[in-house]
This record gives sequence, C-alpha cells and structure tokens, in this order.
Amino acid sequence: MGKDVIIIGGGANAVTAYTRIATAPGISSVTFVAPHPIGLGGAFGTTDPELLCNTSVDVTSLDPEGPSGLLTYLTARGWPATRDDFVPRYLVGQFCRERFREARATAQARGTATHHLTARAETVRRDEDRDEDRDEDRYTVRLDDGREVTGSDVLICLGLERPRLPDQLRRHRGHPDLLPSPYPSRRLRELPAGARVLLYGTKLSAIDAALVLLAEDSGRSVVMTSPSGALPAVRTRLCRPDKALLDTARLLDLDPHSPHLDTRLARILLGALSRHAPRRGIRRQTSTAADPAERLAEELRLATTGAAAWQDVIAETIDTINEWASPWDRRTRADVLARHREPITRYISAIPAANARRLAAHHATGALEVAATLPRDVRPRPDGGWLVRWDDGPERHVDRIVCATGYHAPRLSWDSGGRLHLDGAGGTDAHITEDLRVTPGPAARPERIWAIGAAAHRRTPIVNYLRTAAIHAREVAARLTHP
Ligand SMILES: Cc1cc2nc3c(=O)[nH]c(=O)nc-3n(C[C@H](O)[C@H](O)[C@H](O)COP(=O)(O)OP(=O)(O)OC[C@H]3O[C@@H](n4cnc5c(N)ncnc54)[C@H](O)[C@@H]3O)c2cc1C
Repeated sequence: MGKDVIIIGGGANAVTAYTRIATAPGISSVTFVAPHPIGLGGAFGTTDPELLCNTSVDVTSLDPEGPSGLLTYLTARGWPATRDDFVPRYLVGQFCRERFREARATAQARGTATHHLTARAETVRRDEDRDEDRDEDRYTVRLDDGREVTGSDVLICLGLERPRLPDQLRRHRGHPDLLPSPYPSRRLRELPAGARVLLYGTKLSAIDAALVLLAEDSGRSVVMTSPSGALPAVRTRLCRPDKALLDTARLLDLDPHSPHLDTRLARILLGALSRHAPRRGIRRQTSTAADPAERLAEELRLATTGAAAWQDVIAETIDTINEWASPWDRRTRADVLARHREPITRYISAIPAANARRLAAHHATGALEVAATLPRDVRPRPDGGWLVRWDDGPERHVDRIVCATGYHAPRLSWDSGGRLHLDGAGGTDAHITEDLRVTPGPAARPERIWAIGAAAHRRTPIVNYLRTAAIHAREVAARLTHP
C-alpha cells in the first residue's frame, strides 16, 4: 500500500508538484481539490493574448534544473521561442495542462490513480486514529460542498486570489463603477470605447490592465496612480546565467543581524555586476529620472541596447536570497526584506521590454498618464463615474476606477481544535518549517502537510515566481517520497 496524496489547488504550482510526485514510486493515488481544470489556474489560466509573462521561458518551467520544459514544449509545436522570450501567459497554462495529462498517463501506467474533486478545500485535520496497518497518520480535507477526502499527505498549492483594495477606496467597495481587480481581463475589455479610467497601481498587474484597456485603438484613456508613481524597471530577459556570477557562498554567510549587512550585501551584488560587465557601473545601467515616463523611456533604451547588465544577475539573486533567508525567524526576514522592498519590486519584478515599449507608445499619444502621487480626494458622482482631485491640479472626471494593487497572500491558520483553515478563519497563523511543513508553531510535531509557492510566503521571501514553486516541489517531493 502506497501513499495517498491530496493536492489543494490546480494551477501551475500544483502541476509542478504533481509531475514530481505522481510518477514517483510508493504513491497509490493523487487527488486534486481545485475548482477549475488542472493546469489552468489564476496566473496562467487566462486566454488573453495581451497578457505576457514577466519571466523568460528559461525560468518559467516546472523543473528548476535542466533545459526549460516550456522551451521544449513551445519549440516542438512550432513556436519560434528562445529561452529569453516573455511569452503570452496562456501558453504557460496550455503547457501546464499538457504536462499534467502526460504525467497522469505515466502515473496510471504505473498503477497510480489520479482523481480531481471540483471544489474548494476549507480545512485540513489530522485524524484521531492513526492507520496502524499502514503505520501512518491520515489527514481529512473538508471541501466547501460538504464532501471529505482523506490521505497520508496534503500539499497546499494556493495562488494569489484575494485582491487588495487601496485604503482610499475601501468605503466604496461594491460601487458599480469600481473594479476591485483587473482579472479576468474580459471585464476591462467590456468597458466602453472612449472610457476614462483611473487605474490604481503602477506594478505588474496594473501594467497588464493599462495594456488591455488601451489595446486595439479602444479610444480609452488611463491615468495610473500609486503612492510612489514608480513603474518597474525594464528587462529583455530573466534567465539562469551560463556561469555563476554571484558569490553565493559569501552571500549565504552574511549575518542578517549585522549592522553592516546592507553595505556587505550591496558589495556582493555590485561585485557580481562588475564581474559580468566590468566597465559599466550600475549608474550607467539604470535611470534615476524623477518623471516615471522619462525613466521608463530611458530604461527601455538601456535594456534594448544591451546596457542593462543587472538583469543577468537577477535569477541567481532570487534563488540565493530565498535560500539565505529561509532559515531565519519571521521577524528578521520581514525586517531585512522591508529595507530592500524598493529594489525587489523594481528590479526583481521588472517588466518585459515589449510591454515597456507599448506603455511608452500609449504615453506618447496622450492615452496614458502616470501620476506621481495618489489623488487627494476621490468621490463618486451621483450620475455615475467619479470626481478626482490631486493636490496640484483641477478636479477631473473619470468613468471607472480599476484597482490593480496586489493581492492578499494565502493565510493559513489553526483553530483551537487542531484544524488548519485555508482562509485565515482559524485564528492562529500557521508556522511553516524550514522543510515547508505547515504546523501550529515552531515546537509542534511535524505534520505531513506541506506548503508550496505562495502558501509558503511566511517562510520563503520571493514566492510569486513559478521557479520558486518548482524548487519547493522538488524539495517536498524528495521528503515525501523518501521519508
Ligand atoms: C497576474 C499574475 C501574473 C503572474 N505572472 C507570472 C509570471 O509571468 N511568471 C512567474 O513565474 N510567476 C508569475 N506569477 C506568479 C504566480 O502566482 C506563480 O508563478 C505561480 O506559480 C502560479 O501558480 P499557482 O498554482 O500558485 O497559482 P494559480 O495559478 O493562481 O493557481 C492556484 C489555484 O488554486 C485554487 N485555489 C485557491 N484556493 C483554493 C482552495 N481553498 N481549494 C482549492 N483550490 C483553491 C485557485 O482556484 C487557483 O486557480 C503571476 C501571478 C499573477 C497573479
């Protein structure tokens, strides 16, 4: 008798875990609990061709090592893709769907059954009675339609779903002229031609929203706004380097409590850059223009003329920071990351040059503005739309407000009865161990419940990245199949 594994979630992270586990020896069954077809989750389940990955084909893979599976998949189907490309996200969804079907066929041929319960999971609890025949604990997952499923191991592969509403708009929640999230993007496409849109957010999903709203000569106009007004930096690739550039050993050795931490960290990162591009200092690779549109144009020029050498150090930096910071206690991790939030969001989450070019073109026609601050006042008009005022300008009328201001991370929590809740209703935030187990606290017994990708955000700093989930899946599969 082998293990019965339950995977909660059905997006890319669930598929990377499944491909590792379903074909491993000693697994009797894998049961997905997910409300949609496996592979087609939130991030990559879109059908909108306008929405591009912000990660290159090289790292948008279900396997962290070896050649990119996505590149092999695209090339075999005649797509002229290279490892540097930022492909439409729907292609990653199709890739995940097919990889799932292939792995399921292989698993079935080896005697491992795969089931899919189309529902959402609500809670997980360890059964009181241990299975003596199998000499293992069993876990019961309760679904939102009242069904229950039991297994020996539970993998939590939730994505980002609950949009964050900016403070300024909380009291207008539910207003018909307020879209709380830019996804699904068809809701943006349905806005009337010529609509004037105030778009909250200047990061990745706001850029998606602006490009969809302004696509195909829609005649719409968009004002993007955020507290910083800062757009991400621009890149032409995010790939694993052919040879190591970063002094990984030195970075992993840095003491997070040292008063010299920031200087030492900067020295290591600049050292990697100067090894890669010896005669080009960081100031000549980036723009410091105060105006967001000017900075975008300058960084687009730097990226497309091969001057942005920093981009080649990013993939290694993400992997190393995740490895370095994972063992720390939560407070240390939060403190160190908070000090470096600006470069993390600007450079680690940079945008593809193709998107930057389209943004710059919309800005040049006057269809897109980027406001450097939030409006001072936003009021609904009695006859529809909104009146908006900035400190330094006249009142303006917009027809719709769209929020693209990020997501709440999944909140796993335990109740006093030993039940793990997936929606934060349990009361006590779950602890994630260094080996990615979900427990009630650091001293609690290790459970066979594992967090992968975004669900592990309380342990791993940079989780909104398929490669991080693929690394998690590799680690969890190794522990799960070789206890
Ligand atoms: C808009 C967007 C764009 C992104 N672009 C990129 C990119 O280009 N490159 C990259 O590497 N990363 C990107 N990311 C980050 C992305 O979240 C991760 O890469 C991740 O790998 C996506 O897979 P996932 O399975 O976590 O999430 P999802 O694809 O969101 O899938 C998770 C699924 O879990 C299901 N679920 C949620 N709650 C429950 C429950 N209680 N029970 C059962 N099922 C549940 C949901 O229905 C959801 O579809 C993007 C994220 C977003 C939001």
